[in-house]
Amino acid sequence: MPDKIPKKFLNMYYKQGYRIVGKHQHSAVKICRWTKESLRHDRVCFKQKWYGIESHRCLQCTVSLSCLNRCVYCWRTFHPIFEKEMSKKAIDEPSEIIDELIKAQRLLLTGFKGNEKADKKKWGEAQNPTNAALSLIGDSILYPRFSELLEEFHKRKFSTFLVTKGTSPEKLKILEVEPTNLYISLCAPDEETYMKIDNPIVKDGWKRMNESLELMKSFGCRKILRLTLVKGLNMKNPEKYAKLILKTNCDFVETKGFMWVGESQKRLPMNSMPYHEEIMEFAKKLSEFTGYEIKDEFKPSRVVLLTKK
Ligand code: SF4
Repeated sequence: MPDKIPKKFLNMYYKQGYRIVGKHQHSAVKICRWTKESLRHDRVCFKQKWYGIESHRCLQCTVSLSCLNRCVYCWRTFHPIFEKEMSKKAIDEPSEIIDELIKAQRLLLTGFKGNEKADKKKWGEAQNPTNAALSLIGDSILYPRFSELLEEFHKRKFSTFLVTKGTSPEKLKILEVEPTNLYISLCAPDEETYMKIDNPIVKDGWKRMNESLELMKSFGCRKILRLTLVKGLNMKNPEKYAKLILKTNCDFVETKGFMWVGESQKRLPMNSMPYHEEIMEFAKKLSEFTGYEIKDEFKPSRVVLLTKK
């Protein structure tokens, strides 16, 4: 990734509500819809419901705008400058990044102080986030000092969610610190579908993703597979998904409907979004083939949770 992001991208991201922070501009934060919902209407996200984080104290962020995939359902804009491994030199310090992310989040939350609908006590608490959802855009595992970053977050009493595409198993292998929640995004039952959906910029993407799935079982933290389901593309062959899921010994499987937002609207038709009922049907089939049981559902986000028995 270039040391400095071209102005047109900075402006584009700024308008979309992102704040890019740090001297080397590879980290970003954006207020999550559920943080706003929690402040205004006391409605929280399914991760608060299922994993105990506080939506109003969540830092939706990334430390790598780079990603080695161009998933057809992704909300971000694709551009070659964001499709490279990160350099080991032109990067910011873990503690500086966290300071900058928190500062930017506080600035983004300023408007809620004067909002009569916003819960003032929650707004006060939101100034000190307690969860880092490293899932905003890009793949944060590409940040060369990721273990140190996790260590720094945990030192500050943050829980950490890492969502990775699994395209960098070598980075998972060398992790010295585990996140609170390790998410691997599994969006295809076979290589042909994977190449169509995940569209990796590396030739051996499928092999790498499978290596990451194998590695997952060696982690002691909470392990979650996230299936983003796109109607007409990857809602098929539950028996093949089951084989991949069982490799990981994961604790949970989230089957979640694709959301027609951002740049994905230029790549997929609106009716690619499955209905919640269709997600539930697919989850039931997965349950049959994996032996995992359906634990809960969250209709606002079209997601069904399966848990290991
Ligand atoms: S965990 Fe995810 S959905 Fe929930 S508030 Fe944080 S970023 Fe939003």
